Parts: sequence; C-alpha cells; structure tokens
Amino acid sequence: MSDCQVLVVGGGPAGMMAGYLFARAGVRTMVLEKHGDFLRDFRGDTVHPSTLDLFDELGLLDHLLQRPHDRVAELSAVVRGRTFKVADFSHLPGRGRFIAMMPQWEFLDFLSCEAKRLPAFSLAMETEATGLIEEHGRVCGVIAKNGRTIRAGLTIAADGRGSVLRKAADLPLRDLGAPIDVLWFRLPKQRETKNETAGFIDGGHMVVLIDRGDYWQCARVIGKGEFDAVKRKGLDCFRADVRATAPMVGDAIDELHDWDEVKLLTVALDRLDRWHRPGLLAIGDAAHAMSPVGGVGINLAVQDAVAAANILAGPIAAGEEADGLLERVRARRAFPVKAIQSLQRAIHHNVIGAARADRISRAPLLLRALNGIAPLRRIPARIIGLGLRREHIRSPKA
Ligand SMILES: Cc1cc2nc3c(=O)[nH]c(=O)nc-3n(C[C@H](O)[C@H](O)[C@H](O)COP(=O)(O)OP(=O)(O)OC[C@H]3O[C@@H](n4cnc5c(N)ncnc54)[C@H](O)[C@@H]3O)c2cc1C
Repeated sequence: MSDCQVLVVGGGPAGMMAGYLFARAGVRTMVLEKHGDFLRDFRGDTVHPSTLDLFDELGLLDHLLQRPHDRVAELSAVVRGRTFKVADFSHLPGRGRFIAMMPQWEFLDFLSCEAKRLPAFSLAMETEATGLIEEHGRVCGVIAKNGRTIRAGLTIAADGRGSVLRKAADLPLRDLGAPIDVLWFRLPKQRETKNETAGFIDGGHMVVLIDRGDYWQCARVIGKGEFDAVKRKGLDCFRADVRATAPMVGDAIDELHDWDEVKLLTVALDRLDRWHRPGLLAIGDAAHAMSPVGGVGINLAVQDAVAAANILAGPIAAGEEADGLLERVRARRAFPVKAIQSLQRAIHHNVIGAARADRISRAPLLLRALNGIAPLRRIPARIIGLGLRREHIRSPKA
C-alpha cells in the first residue's frame, strides 16, 4: 500500500510547484523537505514573467504579488562607466511585464500556504530522503534519514543540483563545465523610485548589482576555484575592485567587514541524459543545473514542474500507471534546457571571458544597437523573461 500517489523529494521551486499542481489535480501528493523552514541563504530571487504568467493562469498572481518584492522592468549594462539599456520587459504579453525580485523563502512559503489548502497535499519538513526503495527494478518510494519509509506510485526527485536520488537511481549526469564562480554579498543602499539593477564591466572585473530596495544584492564574478586566491589578496583589495568596477555602490562597500559576509556560489552547468527510471522522475536542478547567467534557474525549475503535471497529473488522478509517460516530460523540457545552457556557455566563454581578460571594447556594437533602438530591447527581454517553449497550466483542477 502506498503512502501517497506522488512523492516529491525537495521543497524548492520545482518541488513545491509540482506538489501544488499534482495536489490541485486531486492526486494524493506528499512533499519532503530536509530543512525545517524555507529560510536560507540567498538562492536567487528572480521570479520571471513566465512564472508570473503561470500564477496568473492559476488565479494566484495578485495574491503572490502581495508578498514583498521589487519590480525590475528594465536591465542595463555599464561598460567602463558608460550605461547601455539592454532589456525592456514592459512590452511582454501577459501581466508579467517585469521580473519580481522576491526572496525565495517568500515564494516558497506562498506556494506552501496555497498547497496546504488542498486536501490531497501534505508536506513533511525536516525529512531528508537518503535512498530509494526499489522492487523488481522499479522505484517505489524513499527511505528517510529517520528510518521512515515512504512508498509512492511515482517519486519525483526535485532535490536540487546535489540530488541524492538521481545518484541512487544511477541516472547519468553530463557535466558541461563552467569556467566561473560567483561571490554573493549584500550592501546597504537608499531606496529609490527607479530600480537600478545593472551589470558592470571594467578593468577585467565583472559585478552585478541587483537592486533590492534598501540593499544591493551583489554578485562578483571570479574564475573557477579562485575564491581562496581572492581571499589571500585581502578584503581591502576586494572592496577596492568592487568599488572600481561598480562605482554605484559608493561608500556602502565599507560596510563589508568580513569574508563571512561573502558567500561562494560554485557555478555548475550540467544535465541528465535520462531524467527517469520506472517509478522515478527528476526535474529542476536535479535534472539540469543552470548557470546564474540570466537568472533562469528558478523559472526553468517551475516550468519543469508544470510540464510534469500537465503530462502526468490527469492520468495519475485517473488511477493510470505513469511510467510510460515519463519520457514525454524529458522530451518536452530537453529543448529549452539545452538551448539555454548553450547560450549560457557561449556567454561564459565569449562575454564573461572577454570581460575578465579586459578585452571588452568601450562601446560594443550589440550594446550600442540595443541602447539606441528601443524595440530591439524587447528581444533579450523575451528570451530572459519568457524563455523558450513556455509552459501553460493544462493539468486538471479537481
Ligand atoms: C547563490 C545562488 C544564487 C542563485 N541565483 C539565482 C537567480 O538569481 N535566479 C534564478 O533563477 N536562479 C538562481 N539560482 C539557481 C536557483 O536557486 C535554482 O536553479 C533553483 O532553486 C532550482 O530549483 P529546484 O527546486 O530544482 O532546486 P533547489 O532550489 O535546490 O531545491 C531543492 C530542495 O530540495 C531540498 N533537498 C535536497 N536534498 C534533499 C533530500 N535528500 N531530502 C529532502 N529534501 C532535500 C533542499 O533543501 C531544497 O529545498 C541561484 C542559486 C544559488 C545557489
């Protein structure tokens, strides 16, 4: 006897969205999350137009936007002190005409509150899956750290880029390599009416400032594995580099007092060739870790969850066996994942590589074109904001 029809391991964006949608279709769904709450270090706050539109389709957008967030309708690049407008989201179709910068715990807490209203949903916090239950070559659930066994018709591995379940299932991972890492830290700022989010390139350095109202969420790009070398040069040198690259931070950089305030994101770019085994499906970062370029990780994870629910929730709710449908989820999502990863690799090597080698000219042609011809700025906005092969909610509502 199964404890649930669908067991989702991992309460991140992919897992919580999948949990909500399967339960909404009347499928008995349980989500396991190893942490006791959704509060953690900065994990990316970008809720893109494609995700906002999905919440609109679910009738939840106004409610979601009551949570604290900042709106970014335009992105700029500042190259050697000269500002170029590069993306304009305000012309996108639908109501999501901006990126909502919402702390990830707010987003996840919102999803969990909505999901808990559904009778078919349950959430087990502080429950870490450590292995799979397998019978006759089929995954039938998981074993948790506390020794509890949880049996399910379908197990969804949404346990992030270090996925324990994909390893236990022996799903082959293709590492595409990423030549960069990112250092994240916060600096205080005054709240302005206009959102000033921008990327800065100067003197072989690259810094992104995400305007979060009363603070900057700052990202300093470094070469892969260089964090120790950066630390050895000292905090004074680091502060001076950031200030020289992104002068907009001003004296706020002096508020960075300790390396403990600087968090390393080891950038990974990888994907599974096969996302499933009988009884198991991987989605989100567990199936494909994305680079932070474009801030698309959360949104691809959410789109995977929507595609999985679109393909599987109806048949599972009707009591059908889903194993024969799992490949359809991978087939649907493989193209956007591969295409965006290829774009991210090209940006790693060509744009970021050139910026770090201080080979970016004062006014690159592409940036001049985007800055000078306003309608052109809708193209990057579409690619970043809506992605490729957008999903729409097609899963049933019980
Ligand atoms: C520092 C940083 C900055 C980022 N910035 C951005 C950004 O700006 N924009 C963006 O879109 N993306 C960003 N990302 C990437 C983004 O966070 C991920 O792509 C996205 O969260 C993937 O969602 P997910 O649900 O697949 O996985 P995750 O968010 O990793 O969620 C996995 C969940 O599973 C839980 N879990 C793991 N193992 C187990 C287990 N064995 N049992 C139970 N639970 C388990 C984890 O606690 C976690 O809650 C960033 C990532 C990092 C680390």
